[in-house]
Amino acid sequence: MKVTTERFKTIALEELANARTQKFLQILPKTLSARRQAAYASFPDPQAAHRYGAAIRADAVARLPELLERFEKNALDNGAKVFWASDAQAANDYIVNLAHAQGVRYVTKGKSMITEELGLNDQLRDSGIIPWETDLGEFIAQLLDRPPFHIVGPAINIPVEQICDIFMQKGVLDAPTLDPVALGLAARLFLRDKFRDLHMGITGVNIAVADTGTVINVENEGNIRFNKSSARTLVCVMSLEKVVPTMADALHMLRVLCRSATGQSAGAYISMDSGPKKSAEIDGPEELHIIVLDNGRSALYADPQTREALRCIRCGACLNACPVYGKVGGYPYGWAYSGPMGQILTPALRGLADSSDLIRACTLCHRCKTICPAGIDHPELLLYYRAKDVQADPLLKGHGAGSAEQLAHRVFALIAGHVLYWRLLTKGVRMITDRFADGPVIHKIARLAPGWFHSRDLPALARKSFHERWREKEHVTDGGAHAKKGSTLD
Ligand code: SF4
Repeated sequence: MKVTTERFKTIALEELANARTQKFLQILPKTLSARRQAAYASFPDPQAAHRYGAAIRADAVARLPELLERFEKNALDNGAKVFWASDAQAANDYIVNLAHAQGVRYVTKGKSMITEELGLNDQLRDSGIIPWETDLGEFIAQLLDRPPFHIVGPAINIPVEQICDIFMQKGVLDAPTLDPVALGLAARLFLRDKFRDLHMGITGVNIAVADTGTVINVENEGNIRFNKSSARTLVCVMSLEKVVPTMADALHMLRVLCRSATGQSAGAYISMDSGPKKSAEIDGPEELHIIVLDNGRSALYADPQTREALRCIRCGACLNACPVYGKVGGYPYGWAYSGPMGQILTPALRGLADSSDLIRACTLCHRCKTICPAGIDHPELLLYYRAKDVQADPLLKGHGAGSAEQLAHRVFALIAGHVLYWRLLTKGVRMITDRFADGPVIHKIARLAPGWFHSRDLPALARKSFHERWREKEHVTDGGAHAKKGSTLD
């Protein structure tokens, strides 16, 4: 998968002009949000459950070094092998070397954002090993060489005609069909064959339990379970923040994760692996390798402000709440993580240089923060990244700002910084919009900055400011008695 984060604006504009994407985005986030809300209502006290999940994540991140050491000790005691990968290259090298040492020609993979982060598929292919994604959506995205559109539906936006074409090209399908069930069955038979004599399976990890050394995966298709139970060697790649202290914590996080991600009280399959299979067991891998990936997370952890991003459980709920994702979809984010989740993780893991537009593609509406089961304050983090990004050059560093735009920003900052200037400006704008509401002046202003108005409206200002209305209200109530302050204005 190519990383295209630095092309956020360009791809966002393409997606804004893509009628199919726009139609799709009218439905997907709303549907998932409604499902999440309904599923949360099944908690006896939804707010308490939400807060408890956030508290577990905050506690786990606060005690990360201690929990990871405990996890490693218990995983080793269970018979697993644990490898600490400092970066993507170290993790990829470990997997490729292991595959070569075992004479593996192909591997199967369960859906995992972490292996997208590693660029593992490219590394495997370059080393002569064929990777097969086994989640249906990931399989389609892999064949089309596309990034995921949505974390819980990587190829949910791809039309059946396109799926049929690519399945025909790649030999998944014998005869063309647009029947989604037949397409699903073709993929299933094709992939089932890969599991038959499987040497190595690779999965991510949703939750790791420090107390027991257990790795947990949750899914709906059963393909991860196949990866885990059919392979002789299983490699589980976990980002180091996935650990929680106890199994009770893990079970609560599973409840929260499934509700937040797909609106289910539990995923269809939940697998818990504590070490490779024991001598009396039939299923399971003979070898279990757990790769604990750093890849920039220690630096994230070292900064108390960015540490909070490590709480993320990759549920995707923030994508469905985000007005920006709701307009542009997943492709513009250009990497494994999209939506607000991507906006807080990508700059931290890949650096600010390529993420300049990404950290500014936010209205700071706070909906992601409200909905996040991990208790992450995305707006605060984005402001922090923005501040860091401009530190080298306080005058709107980078992101293509021309001198006219810079001047406009400076003038605006000057006006916005003085009450008197601000009042004069808003009065002037009000006079103009009152006189030419929706008329030629507005259109002329919009023509002056076509880029800015390409995907934005210029709503008319309210006829009276809040302060004017407040003063009027005070005037008519009780001769301006201060006791009336705080009463509703309507
Ligand atoms: S940032 Fe929060 S809401 Fe978004 S994916 Fe992570 S845990 Fe879920």
